[in-house]
Amino acid sequence: MEPHLYFQSDASELDKKDALPSNREHFHIPVNKNGEETIYFVGHSLGLQPKLAQTYINDELQNWKKLGVDAHFEANKPWVSYHKNLAKPIGRLVGALPTEVVVMNTLTVNLHLMMISFYRPTRKRNKILIEGSAFPSDLYAIKSQIAWHGFDPEETLIEIHPKNGEDTIQTEAIEELIAKEGNTIALVFISGVNYLTGQVFPIKKITEIGHQKGCVVGFDLAHAIGNIELQLHDWQVDFAVWCSYKYLNGGPGCVGGCFIHTDHGSKSNLPRFSGWWGHQKATRFQMLPEFDPIPGAEGWQLSNQPILLLAALRASLELFDSIGMDHLRSKSKRLTGYLEYLLLNRLGSNISIISPENPEQRGCQLSIRSPQIGRHIYNTLSRHGVQLDWREPDVIRLAPVPLYNTFSDVYNCVKIIENIKTST
Ligand SMILES: *Cc1c(COP(=O)(O)O)cnc(C)c1O
Repeated sequence: MEPHLYFQSDASELDKKDALPSNREHFHIPVNKNGEETIYFVGHSLGLQPKLAQTYINDELQNWKKLGVDAHFEANKPWVSYHKNLAKPIGRLVGALPTEVVVMNTLTVNLHLMMISFYRPTRKRNKILIEGSAFPSDLYAIKSQIAWHGFDPEETLIEIHPKNGEDTIQTEAIEELIAKEGNTIALVFISGVNYLTGQVFPIKKITEIGHQKGCVVGFDLAHAIGNIELQLHDWQVDFAVWCSYKYLNGGPGCVGGCFIHTDHGSKSNLPRFSGWWGHQKATRFQMLPEFDPIPGAEGWQLSNQPILLLAALRASLELFDSIGMDHLRSKSKRLTGYLEYLLLNRLGSNISIISPENPEQRGCQLSIRSPQIGRHIYNTLSRHGVQLDWREPDVIRLAPVPLYNTFSDVYNCVKIIENIKTST
């Protein structure tokens, strides 16, 4: 059906008839001062709490209480291998073998660890290509790595920006740049989904063109994991990193993760920063002086794992697994399409949507720019109990998340601001 016809139904009808029934009841929805549920459009910053998270955390608190240190081996899900329970569902989300992924640390820490192994600059080939307006933490990490290798970030970092007047980066521009400068680029490191515009980058294509020129190609999946479908193994991506508190709903500061392609997982010549949790399990507790890594991504683990955080993440991953990312992604396109439709119809020329128009080139987030009434829109929505996000100088980011947001959320949000142009 034509989108505009489809979207002419009542929001509550759309909620009722959608091919994927809502999973909202599995989450705690924040409430405002009057005890009413907020419209939560900031899943791009902190995903909501799955109701089962508390149960799973409590289970581990009980194990700690009753078993003490023995819970490492005697708990129902022994702590020593608790992270392994998450490798399969994470592998399904990113399109990887369970041995290619590991849940550990936080994103920026993982980026540093991956760069130790995968950014091996030489005099001839030392540059790093990233997208312009990359997330600041990535920039800080990357510049510090460049400097640590003795190179000048000013000369070594190439940032690719949208062409004049555009908000998103064309794949052809990336292609041209790599064709021209690829021989000097050691690492291409791009986001799967840009945090500001919501643009989805063509991971497979970028990996291909990077590899043709001999570059290592890695991705930051902070805004991609749990948002779009990924096939990292088949796409031959070298490595990737992510956090789990955004679309993965792991909770504040929850454990992130890494993907390391199986082609690299057992390479003994790759330098790495090692720790005891990366050592072969059979001999780990013999406390031997020589490091003997577990083959695959697990070999990059440093420390024993934060079980309570992993327990929270497990609750969310079970939901992803039971529903399937393919179903979530198609619902996501319908929800975000509905938001776009209503915004364009009701606010029209008062705003511009800087996220790509093509649903394949964006995730669930729409970024809106309105130099005139943007602040007013933001303030009005906040006052009416919509949780949303403002990025200086003038961008509003709204993310209808298919796991817990509804068509009614979208409708009610736009209803609050549809007359705003007259009330300024
Ligand atoms: C959210 C986000 C981070 C956060 O990193 P942490 O180390 O987990 O705090 C880093 N990079 C990008 C692109 C992000 O979106």
